[in-house]
Amino acid sequence: MWYDEDSDEQENTGPKNGQITEKNPNDEKKEKCKCKKGCSKRSCCCFKFGSGCNSSCGCGSSCRNMFNHLEYFFGDDNNKCAANPCFARWLVEHAKNTDGFKLIDRDELRQLIMKCPSFPDMSYDEDLEAWTKKWQTISENEKLAHTQKLFRMLLSDDTTMHYYSFCHNDLFQEDCYWHCIVCQECLKWREWHCGVCNKCMYFSFFFFNKKKLMIFDRIYQLCGFLLGTYGVSLPCEGCGGRSQMSGSF
Ligand SMILES: [Zn+2]
Ligand SMILES: [Zn+2]
Ligand SMILES: [Zn+2]
Ligand SMILES: [Zn+2]
Ligand SMILES: [Zn+2]
Ligand SMILES: [Zn+2]
Repeated sequence: MWYDEDSDEQENTGPKNGQITEKNPNDEKKEKCKCKKGCSKRSCCCFKFGSGCNSSCGCGSSCRNMFNHLEYFFGDDNNKCAANPCFARWLVEHAKNTDGFKLIDRDELRQLIMKCPSFPDMSYDEDLEAWTKKWQTISENEKLAHTQKLFRMLLSDDTTMHYYSFCHNDLFQEDCYWHCIVCQECLKWREWHCGVCNKCMYFSFFFFNKKKLMIFDRIYQLCGFLLGTYGVSLPCEGCGGRSQMSGSF
């Protein structure tokens, strides 16, 4: 190979320079928690990941995990699913506790999603396209179940093509964006969480204004494409570490 990692590019700054320091906190999801009671805070690893508790958790009848009641959004005819990280964060802000779910108007939430900029351009997502077609001819008494189906597609942790981002009020492709549960921000796949600095490495100069993000991103993609560097993630500003996917610098 012509490329040699130990060659002259080693004079950079950070102490972790070149080492892989990526540690995705979203991968640390567990099957159960060990809480003795409560489960109403992020110290509970079920709550933290937007999941309800189950019989193998330590909490029992004292459990106050609001995500035990996600059937309000997802319906109970289906397999239990968790809230995706972006929805989980939104629920914590808007519901506060278990009873708070009932104060959230599901129809308003559906409208919020359907009014987001990308929703009309979703014809290439077969599931969403089929959902929208059915919505147009649906009878009044089927609307709730169909709304819950939309929420399962866009707000739960089961993987479909898109998810709804509350951070950016738009639909994002699941393999292009992710919501970091520590930094609580929807990020592009190139942006990664540094385990040493415990924060995400994102392009901060693009991020100073979320509304401009999309425009800058287009420019970035174009420049990156022209330079042949599109798809490369940058090293951590804090420690100089790099992600699994980053190439050579
Ligand atoms: Zn717990
Ligand atoms: Zn639990
Ligand atoms: Zn619990
Ligand atoms: Zn988000
Ligand atoms: Zn992060
Ligand atoms: Zn770092």
